[in-house]
Amino acid sequence: MIKILKTKHGNVTLPSFFPDGTKGVVKGIDSKDLENAKVEGLVINTYHLLVSGLEEKIEAIGGIHRLMGWKKPVITDSGGFQVMSLIHKDESLGKMNDTGATFKLPGAPRIKLTPESSIRLQIKLDADILICLDDCTKPDQDIGEQEKSVERTIAWAKRCKLEFEKLTSLSKKRPLLFAVIQGGNNRELRKKCAKSLVDIGFDGYCFGGFPVDNQGKFLKSIMKYTASLLPEEKVKYAMGIGTPANIIDCVKMGYNLFDCVIPTREARHQKLYIFNKKVTKKNVFDNNIYSTINIGAGRYNQTLDSVSKFCDCHTCERFSRAYLHHLFKIKDTSAFRLATIHNLRFYSMLMEALKQG
Ligand SMILES: [Zn+2]
Repeated sequence: MIKILKTKHGNVTLPSFFPDGTKGVVKGIDSKDLENAKVEGLVINTYHLLVSGLEEKIEAIGGIHRLMGWKKPVITDSGGFQVMSLIHKDESLGKMNDTGATFKLPGAPRIKLTPESSIRLQIKLDADILICLDDCTKPDQDIGEQEKSVERTIAWAKRCKLEFEKLTSLSKKRPLLFAVIQGGNNRELRKKCAKSLVDIGFDGYCFGGFPVDNQGKFLKSIMKYTASLLPEEKVKYAMGIGTPANIIDCVKMGYNLFDCVIPTREARHQKLYIFNKKVTKKNVFDNNIYSTINIGAGRYNQTLDSVSKFCDCHTCERFSRAYLHHLFKIKDTSAFRLATIHNLRFYSMLMEALKQG
């Protein structure tokens, strides 16, 4: 089992969790806050940078790390997931065919994303880990659509690899290229997709598509099966996952890289994660190892305890629950920052315990 992920911007011990910096920022906090919360890497959404027209600016500055003042690894996604979400929401906003994805937001120019242009864009951003453009589906889509998605995802992955090799063959520090496995909730299609991608050969493999069904149920069985199809020595990236409980389950299945908006988004909605006891490699798999609190609840109005006595983050070392409650109540922007720092440190402590397990 691979334990170290080697990138242009340093090594990461696996398993690791990377928060999402959607538009070149993790909302409300800066790169120093991320370092202090022991965050080991970030995921940046190519699609959002593209629609914001930021790619030329980032290239001129010398890459996403320079723009953000961030020294650790960055994964850029291909943009496929967001394009799929956009088209599913409103068909008139874009379309996908075998050549790529075209989309147009109201008041913005039409943008075409092909496997080749997606790779060129991610190279321009100077990412450490690039993701192949894929045709993302939801698990409840019919079998015909899932088959089409798998064929297209394999064909696009081949084109991505060719473009990647063309652009990086002379690089001293080569980035890494990951491919995405589609196939919805169908074992045969997941197997076909995984096998074809492994035959082409990538540095890592991602579980793609929605990891929950339309009832919101986590697709544990298909995720476990898909992980079992992949080589031991390669990174297995569970994209968009997840809650701490989902991450713990996925680590048991063999996944070792994660990203999700949950810790940061929930922090901004006053939901904070806390360990119920000091987390260790022995107890991290216990069902009751963590819980959540809503810091906006009236009962925290006068609580002088820190958010968590088992946390060493800036927020917990310095402030009380009562103060954070107050900052949310008066809608001061520092509430977002302090809550986000805490939740990210919770996630990094969780990963530290899982790394030792
Ligand atoms: Zn804390």
